[in-house]
Formats: sequence, structure tokens, C-alpha cells
Amino acid sequence: MAIRKTNLLDLDRASLEAFFADRGEKAFRASQVLKWIHQHGARDFAAMTNLSKSLRQQLAASAEIRLPEVIRRQVARDGTRKWVLRLSDGNAVETVFIPETDRGTLCVSSQAGCALNCAFCATARQGYSRNLTAGEIVAQLWIASRELAAPSPGDGARAGTAMRHITNVVLMGMGEPLLNFDAVVTAMRVMLEDHAYGLSRRRVTLSTAGLVPGIDRLRECCDVSLAVSLHAPDDALRDVLVPLNRKYPIDELMAACRRYAAAAPRRRITFEYVMLDGVNDSLAHARRLLAWMRRVPSKVNLIPFNPFPGAPYRCSPPEVIEAFREVLIRGGITTVTRRTRGEDIDAACGQLVGQVQDRTRRSQRFHVVLAGAGS
Ligand code: SAH
Repeated sequence: MAIRKTNLLDLDRASLEAFFADRGEKAFRASQVLKWIHQHGARDFAAMTNLSKSLRQQLAASAEIRLPEVIRRQVARDGTRKWVLRLSDGNAVETVFIPETDRGTLCVSSQAGCALNCAFCATARQGYSRNLTAGEIVAQLWIASRELAAPSPGDGARAGTAMRHITNVVLMGMGEPLLNFDAVVTAMRVMLEDHAYGLSRRRVTLSTAGLVPGIDRLRECCDVSLAVSLHAPDDALRDVLVPLNRKYPIDELMAACRRYAAAAPRRRITFEYVMLDGVNDSLAHARRLLAWMRRVPSKVNLIPFNPFPGAPYRCSPPEVIEAFREVLIRGGITTVTRRTRGEDIDAACGQLVGQVQDRTRRSQRFHVVLAGAGS
């Protein structure tokens, strides 16, 4: 019977060092191999020329660099790119690259589907299948980095002055990252690792719907930027929009955010707030939000609601969003309205659906994103 090979994409530096120690090799082999895989994009051990021939052969026999298959690539009019990746069990997840003049942000998924059931999110409609492995999360970065480095036809016209490489990663794709804690932390360690992607802690952001114990655990073990999907300034409304609130109400969530902010100098928490017409966008809501924001080192991202088929909400009109923003700004809170990106390819916030084998039987409908696969 064939022994399953170790997928080296699943390993951060510490586990790769342990992997080599088991084989009687020195710890520095881990840095060499991390560089080959993540910086040079090597998948073939034969190419790793600073390793001895016998080590390369040993690696080929016991390890591999296994990637999901890209089944769809799309480029939006604004240059936003989306990849649909098929995992080995048939689930599909989405990854999005958002180019701006001063940064290139990769938005990665952490789960196939999502179990949290937020009322305004397309991913929720898909139901939930499973956690991604660390390797499946890291692979999104591996694939996007390689493909962004290779020019493709039609890029010239679109690219303009926009950034062509990944400077920031946000765990804001499909899934709740803190419900897949270990794999997400391992993957973030690879993102931060100098011999892999070398991103700074400020440029890796985990976004959560507010899992309080997860926020505390994260604070203790992996120092990255935190974004919290708040969306409502009081429990009655947040219970409806983000059902997780029934377990972790706003005051407990804010206390966890204060602890997280206090763990690093000058750290601020980003609060995301989706603007839903007539639901959470009044000036009274803005004033209540301001009162919370004054009690935590914070900044606010207002997110225009991105519609999807069957969505029960509409986006607030621009002047309502602006008036809401004014209240926060005048209250001294840095507040930006997030520009919607990539909506013509369903790559905007809350539009990622992939194709998930729903184990929660939530989705009776089937989202046909695989139509045109391979095009
Ligand atoms: N589960 C995590 C990670 C997903 S992040 C979290 O909740 O933070 C995705 C971000 O997009 C979240 O802030 C989410 O609330 C927001 N979002 C979801 N659906 C949206 C929609 N239809 N329009 C705009 N933003 C949406």
C-alpha cells in the first residue's frame, strides 16, 4: 500500500525543522526548502540544487508539494482577479487579488463554505463543508504569487499603475478563520516567515465575525492584524445579522478587542460594517457605533452591501453612507468607505461562493460557478 506523502505546503518552519530532524538532517534545511517552495515556486525536488542528491531523492520518495487545481480564472474590469480552486475532495473555494496603486491584497478563504449563517452573506447560502488544511490556505498564496508574476495577455491595458504583486493578505474570503484555528495559524506563520513570503504582521489581517475565545487565543500565539465584522451597534440587531452574536454579545466582543489591541503598541482593530439600506444605516446607528468605537482603539471600514441573487437587503444610498461616515469622523474615528472591487466577476465582499458540498443541507440551490470552468 502506498504511504501518503507529506505535503510540505502544510508545514511552517517549526514543523519542517521537525520533519528534517526525523531524517537526521540539520534545521537549516527547513529554510532552504521553504525558499525553494515559496520564493522560487519549485515543486520538483530535483530542482533544489543546494540539497544533496540523496536528500533530494529521499524527499521525492516521502514528500510532495501538492496544490489544488485552478479550475477558473477571471479578471474584472477594474483588474481584480479571482481564482476558483478545486480541492482534492471536489469542494471548490475562491481566492481574490485586489490591485491598488500602493498595495496588492490577496483575499484568501479558510473554509469550504461557512457555518455562521450571516444574513447578508452569499457564502452562508452555500452551507458548510469543512475546514481547509494549512496547505490549502497557503496554496492560494503560492498560486496567486506565481500567476501574478507571469504576465498574461490583456494585462497591459488593465494594469496601469496598479500593484502587480501581493503586499497584503487578508483572511476575508470564504469561512470563519477562527473556527479553523490551527490550520489558519500555521498558514499565517508561513506568510510571515522570512524564508517564505516575509509579510509583516501589519500586512496580514484576520477577519472574524466575533469568536471571542478565538480572538484571545490568537492574541496569545500569533501576532497579526485583526478585523472584526461588527455590522450592528446593538445586540438586538446584531443577533439577526450575525447570529454568532447570540453566543458572544457585543460587550464581550469589545472586551476581547480591547485585550487584543492592548497586546501590541499602537495597535488598532478594524471594524467592518456593511451598509444595509434602512436596516443598520441611520444616524442613530452611527452614534451608537461611535460610542463603542470610542472605547476601543479602532478604525472603521464601511462596506457597501454587495448584492447576490435572492439577497434580502439593498445597499444604502451613497449619501446615507457619507452621512454615517461623517458622524464617525467628527467623533474622531478614522473611517473609510471600502470601494467595491471586482463585482462584475462576483469577487466582492460576501459574493464568494465556490462550490461547496454542503453538509449542513442549508443550500437547496446549486450555485453554478463551474459553468465555463477551464475557460
Ligand atoms: N467570517 C469572517 C471572514 C469573512 S470576511 C468574518 O465574518 O469577518 C468577509 C467580509 O465581508 C466580512 O466583513 C463580511 O461581513 C463582509 N460581507 C459579507 N457579505 C457581504 C455582502 N453581501 N456585502 C458586503 N460585505 C459582505
